[in-house]
Amino acid sequence: MIEKVGFNCVGCGACEGICPTNTVKVKELDRGYKPFVNRELCINCKLCVKVCPIQNINIPDDYTKIKRAYRCWSRNKSVYLKGASGGGVSSLLIYMFDKKLIDAALVTFYDKNLNLYGDFITDKNEVLNHSGAFYQQSKQLVNINKITRFHSVAVVGLPCHIEAVRRFAELNKLKNIYVMISLFCTIGRMKKGFEDFIKKRFNLEVRNLEFSEYKSRYGKSRLGDIILKTKDGKELIYKYPEYLNFVDYFYTPEGCFNCRKMFGLNADISIGDDWGIKTTRKLCLVSVNTDRGLEIFLNCNLIKYYEVSNPVKTLLNSQPIGIPLKVFHPPLKVPVLKLMKALGSFNTNVPLFRITSLIRTIVLLGFIKLGKPKAYER
Ligand SMILES: Cc1cc2nc3c(=O)[nH]c(=O)nc-3n(C[C@H](O)[C@H](O)[C@H](O)COP(=O)(O)OP(=O)(O)OC[C@H]3O[C@@H](n4cnc5c(N)ncnc54)[C@H](O)[C@@H]3O)c2cc1C
Ligand code: SF4
Ligand code: SF4
Ligand code: SF4
Repeated sequence: MIEKVGFNCVGCGACEGICPTNTVKVKELDRGYKPFVNRELCINCKLCVKVCPIQNINIPDDYTKIKRAYRCWSRNKSVYLKGASGGGVSSLLIYMFDKKLIDAALVTFYDKNLNLYGDFITDKNEVLNHSGAFYQQSKQLVNINKITRFHSVAVVGLPCHIEAVRRFAELNKLKNIYVMISLFCTIGRMKKGFEDFIKKRFNLEVRNLEFSEYKSRYGKSRLGDIILKTKDGKELIYKYPEYLNFVDYFYTPEGCFNCRKMFGLNADISIGDDWGIKTTRKLCLVSVNTDRGLEIFLNCNLIKYYEVSNPVKTLLNSQPIGIPLKVFHPPLKVPVLKLMKALGSFNTNVPLFRITSLIRTIVLLGFIKLGKPKAYER
């Protein structure tokens, strides 16, 4: 059944994680992600279909859920340096572990080939090993069945992950999810983009390397650096925008073409960047969407924050490309993304990359010009 999802798959790993006979494998192919099932082992329970978030991700966020919005950053220097946008998520996790509000958190791990997946940490000292934003698809729910081992869990993920966790919780009547924290997300990126980037930039094949460390958006400045260390002592360092210019919109999994969830407002707290304001420092924009979220956020002693006066407007302005592209959903969106993806196959060729990169800039400026939909302003 789940095979019918085909390339509408967004690679969240929920079907793989929930399958009682361990029969589903989600793979990345050129077009995007796709689930594969071993028919001989399938018992036709349909759990994989029921947990799949693709039926929800084409419904835009409900902005009436926003209770309050804040700009914030971590008071702790290490958390700030390692955090993608100032360490808001990591600060909240450390605070909740400290106060024993949670005994586990679902965060993102990487293996030695830098494949991303979700798993649980159980100690505040583990939080910083997983902070930073890895701009690649993560099989965030591949270990979701372990959630029943814990009493009180914080879940971190992209809007599609939050939708899948919500479905998983409903199916299993879970009562142990303490809080869900969504990251904002304009668009997904496939691992192939990362591999092509490393090949072009360092002339190295990712599949031949074994990585020991991955820091993304490390440092004081807003955009930060990406720092990769290999087990044989190589250090690969590059600027975050360098990577995004190469990958963004050229390596989009087809499943993301249908996604209209920008902020993940079904979570208790949503956190992203505020690209609507000029600053050189890291800064999280936070939308608090439930009473539980508000209680956690306001009591967290690890962050400095100030409230923003018009939450919906601030959120919409914070994503000058994401909002027109995802939420306004002009009929142009899917063909344009398909074209960009086709152009991506030329990216490893240096002269052609100049042309594809120019086309990308023109397209993105076009989306910025389309602006945000008036209907969503409040
Ligand atoms: C793939 C992706 C796309 C994003 N797109 C946007 C965007 O378009 N606009 C915007 O404003 N913000 C976007 N964000 C959010 C932004 O980059 C930061 O993650 C967010 O602001 C939180 O920053 P922080 O300093 O509080 O997080 P940190 O304290 O650094 O914690 C980050 C948390 O994110 C988790 N994480 C890292 N990578 C992934 C992943 N691939 N999938 C799931 N969880 C992950 C980590 O486990 C960690 O718990 C995106 C994040 C990701 C991962
Ligand atoms: S129907 Fe059940 S057994 Fe078959 S692949 Fe899906 S989850 Fe696994
Ligand atoms: S979107 Fe998630 S649950 Fe659905 S098929 Fe893809 S990996 Fe499986
Ligand atoms: S655009 Fe982002 S939130 Fe939406 S399906 Fe893709 S990765 Fe998930």
